[in-house]
Amino acid sequence: MTDVIAAAPQPRIPVRGGGQFPVRRIYCVGRNFAEHAREMGAAVPTSAADRGNPVFFLKPADAIVLDEAVPYPRGTQDLHHEVELVVALGRDAPAGELDPADATALIFGYAVGLDLTRRDLQTAAKAKGLPWDTGKAFDHSAPISPIVPAAEVGELGARALTLEVNGQIRQRGSLDDLVWNVPEILHELSRLYALRAGDLVFMGTPAGVAALQPGDRYHAVLEGVAELRGRIAPATV
Ligand code: MN
Repeated sequence: MTDVIAAAPQPRIPVRGGGQFPVRRIYCVGRNFAEHAREMGAAVPTSAADRGNPVFFLKPADAIVLDEAVPYPRGTQDLHHEVELVVALGRDAPAGELDPADATALIFGYAVGLDLTRRDLQTAAKAKGLPWDTGKAFDHSAPISPIVPAAEVGELGARALTLEVNGQIRQRGSLDDLVWNVPEILHELSRLYALRAGDLVFMGTPAGVAALQPGDRYHAVLEGVAELRGRIAPATV
């Protein structure tokens, strides 16, 4: 059988050292730094036992942006930056629940990305108890750096995650302040979804989220691993 329309190209992310990573799904974690949960007016867990369940949402794979210029999206007056660690899976998870002790073996590599957010649309949806999709899952909403193989990174430890906009620090966090760490998140995702090679996980943002305007330049850094530079371009529509 032949396709009746042209197949859309599969998004691919360059890998440092060569090759490219074909993207299947983009999972995202909400409220994974306590100070960010607080600034969003959400409940802040005080202990691991008090964490409840992680907040998950998805973006379409073709939200990936590799170009330096990110067009200001339509439909919003309040585009926000959220700098995040991104985990790239290189192997399928086994059937059933993934043991956190087995989670690291699935990881191909790491990147730094932005979970761009139409905050006005997300806030309106939250107020009505509606889904966040229009606030989170939109065109050009996932700028990302090249992926660095995990073997070159070693332990993530307490690496810093920072974002500068126009040379000013906006966000700074430490990966040891994640409410749910990477193996815990992969375990929790596996209870809900079949994780596969090609999946990305945006791990959540530290405090300091704020608006981006056309002309703004950003510089995101995952300490010692990856960096991402870009700018917000005028809307294309
Ligand atoms: Mn986020």
